[in-house]
Amino acid sequence: MREFSEKHRRAINVATIISLLLLGCILVLGAAAPWLNPWRHRLSLGSGFHIALWGAPLNPRLVFFNDSDYGPYRGSIIGIVDDQGNMYPPLEREIAFGDTLGIYYRYFRWSDATLWTLMVTLWYPAIAFAVLPLLWWYRRARPKPGCCRKCGYNLTGNVSGRCPECGLET
Ligand SMILES: [Zn+2]
Repeated sequence: MREFSEKHRRAINVATIISLLLLGCILVLGAAAPWLNPWRHRLSLGSGFHIALWGAPLNPRLVFFNDSDYGPYRGSIIGIVDDQGNMYPPLEREIAFGDTLGIYYRYFRWSDATLWTLMVTLWYPAIAFAVLPLLWWYRRARPKPGCCRKCGYNLTGNVSGRCPECGLET
């Protein structure tokens, strides 16, 4: 593995700590999700964008939706259907995706309104934020050849048989 300069190493360490904190937040959100009701507990960023949590213990999801009265909306058809099967008001556009690979999406548009809901499993951000901490752990767990097993100090040319940094017998 290529060696990093001190400046890069510091940037990587900071990014790793931030990743670890975000991973902790995701785990807390995942643990809280089964007790939260997205119709009542939501974070509203403006009148047309809301964020909530929804899910079973092993499948918590982040929910994004635009309508706080109906949303998050799950299902297929919304509207009034007459005897001939005509919808009033008729849907101009409908997109239904998922549940596929942890993603669920519904989009409905009428002449006078739009309703959409997007749900994404918390596993995606959890995996993304786990990458840097796992790499850090992997780099630490595997001592580099010619370096101290404990502290990683470079022992090239060392003849004392003892690491000058931490005192470990080599
Ligand atoms: Zn050492």
